[in-house]
Amino acid sequence: MTGRDPIADLRRIAFLLERANEASFRVKAFRSAAKTLAELPAEELATRAGAGTLTELSGVGDVTARTVTESLRGEEPVYLRRLLATEGLDLDEEAAALRAALRGDCHTHSDWSDGGSPIEEMALAAVELGHEYLVLTDHSPRLTVARGLTAARLRRQLDYVAAVNDALPEGFRILTGIEVDILDDGSLDQDEELLARLDVVVGSVHSNLRDPKARMTRRMLAAVANPHLDILGHCTGRMVAARPPGVTGPGDRGHRARTRPPSDFDADAVFAACAEYDKAVEINSRPERQDPPKRLIRLAVEAGCRFAINTDAHAPGQLDWQRFGCERAARCGVPAERVVNTWSAEALLDWAGSHSG
Ligand SMILES: [Zn+2]
Ligand SMILES: [Zn+2]
Repeated sequence: MTGRDPIADLRRIAFLLERANEASFRVKAFRSAAKTLAELPAEELATRAGAGTLTELSGVGDVTARTVTESLRGEEPVYLRRLLATEGLDLDEEAAALRAALRGDCHTHSDWSDGGSPIEEMALAAVELGHEYLVLTDHSPRLTVARGLTAARLRRQLDYVAAVNDALPEGFRILTGIEVDILDDGSLDQDEELLARLDVVVGSVHSNLRDPKARMTRRMLAAVANPHLDILGHCTGRMVAARPPGVTGPGDRGHRARTRPPSDFDADAVFAACAEYDKAVEINSRPERQDPPKRLIRLAVEAGCRFAINTDAHAPGQLDWQRFGCERAARCGVPAERVVNTWSAEALLDWAGSHSG
């Protein structure tokens, strides 16, 4: 016997999930496990937890079984601990504070790849939002459907951005960047020399999203370890049913029509690597992405990761979508000081520069 009541822990989790407006299937999973296990004699509960046979019972899955086992050992279940991290906070207030702390956006597209607007218009919209910087991250060559930039076109873009910057208001600048494809072997889809020249590199998986777990994990670990990568973009690649409000860029049309499950990878290992190499995990604000899911954001918080709350905007109006990412981050207890785009442009550049040595 221990000091904890596993049934009470399951019910508490269900309550907290419900209050946080999480998916109802998840709430139900904890409630039905609690119901099943409450009817079990305490002795059988302990025996089954010891033998690892709780999941043979109807309504008990891996996550709920793990929670019960931790409870019976007298530990606060990890799942509960993560939820409790944000308890007592006014989440709307936290989200607003986080949004107010953001000084820029590290993932945006222009009409040089699949965005709908010229670089100047994106920049002016960012100025109006009060940003100090905007990282321009058009796609890399292999993403031909998104008119990914060849090395030659990216070079031309760098010259162009330098000229646009000269004409922009004092106190604001466009930082150079790329959303580079993470290829099948984990390498990055652009010339080394160019990646080294860019201010900020976001790396994302856009192909073979159904790679088996071990392969996807290896692929992502290699990318995170690459000194050129600074931010791991929309790490699960999932698409949820929500439609973005308002106007979207031409490149979004394909995205909106379909949903897609998250990729399968060892999130513990990938987030541990992000923490080790001091890379940021992106919280992608797009309503149809909401990537990573909150469960994974909480995991990354615990792993000690840094974050970037980005819009992945393909049109100027979408630059205002950061508030969606801030809401999700607040619900998961992401501290503002760990969000790299709450920093000044200088601090961001120092951090990104520290990766390439
Ligand atoms: Zn992307
Ligand atoms: Zn993007």
